[in-house]
Amino acid sequence: MTRYGMLIDINKCNGCYNCFLACKDEFTGNDYPPFSLALPEASKPWLKVKEIERGRCPKVKVDYLPVPCQQCDTTPCTEKSPEGAVYMRDDGIVIIDPEKARGCKEIVNSCPYRVISWNEEKDVAQKCTFCAHLLDQGWKEPRCVEACPSGALVFGDLDDPDSRLSGICKQASVETLSPEFNSSPKVFYLGLPKKMIAGEVVLADKQDVCAENVEVAINDGSAGRTTKTDYLGDFVFEGLESNYLYTLQAVQPGYKKKEVQVKTSTDVNLGEIVLEPE
Ligand code: SF4
Ligand code: SF4
Repeated sequence: MTRYGMLIDINKCNGCYNCFLACKDEFTGNDYPPFSLALPEASKPWLKVKEIERGRCPKVKVDYLPVPCQQCDTTPCTEKSPEGAVYMRDDGIVIIDPEKARGCKEIVNSCPYRVISWNEEKDVAQKCTFCAHLLDQGWKEPRCVEACPSGALVFGDLDDPDSRLSGICKQASVETLSPEFNSSPKVFYLGLPKKMIAGEVVLADKQDVCAENVEVAINDGSAGRTTKTDYLGDFVFEGLESNYLYTLQAVQPGYKKKEVQVKTSTDVNLGEIVLEPE
């Protein structure tokens, strides 16, 4: 049996908002009974793209995090809503019934992911339906996935071992958003933002030249990771654990090794690491 799911690869998302616009285009002014009623003109669509600023000035970056309904298998939204107002289809898509849920504003607060909005015009709570009305017409994917130019969104059948989606979801690095909610989402993520350590290496006797290609290593308690400074002498380690004490080493032949201990209670910019000649 089909069980629809989605994979969102943050590493491939460039924040173009095409998915957001496709969602708005599909649902604004259009009723799709029995799954959804028209989104008002001024409302935000149901797929949000959150901007997450990371790092410490001037070593900063922005990640874009698309957040649709996570299509949870344990549906906290169902449990806290009137009988039959929120239900799961046989293909796993969670639907807010626009008739049975009419007037039930409390449904908005039933979702720990905060992806349900209130439609004042229609007096109903609403959220992403994975474009169930289109899938039922034979579409292979929702409008947001079709509109994504970078391949950041992958849609498919989680129960089909040959689907591209289930293949990707076998990777160890696939995560769900806020696993502490224990809601068994069918939306998965690659590259969710974690802590980062950045810095710059400077050679004490060549301060007017960028220290390119200096080896920088970080010990994370297991195998460790190594990188090289770029053409500006900068380095960055991403995807680090929170509140972990890392040991970082900068090594360049002809210079004394420099070792720094750094705790990732926040993102860290170490600033300049100056290597003295031997
Ligand atoms: S993300 Fe929220 S609205 Fe969607 S299925 Fe999970 S609890 Fe329900
Ligand atoms: S369309 Fe794709 S690349 Fe653009 S914001 Fe959405 S997920 Fe990211």
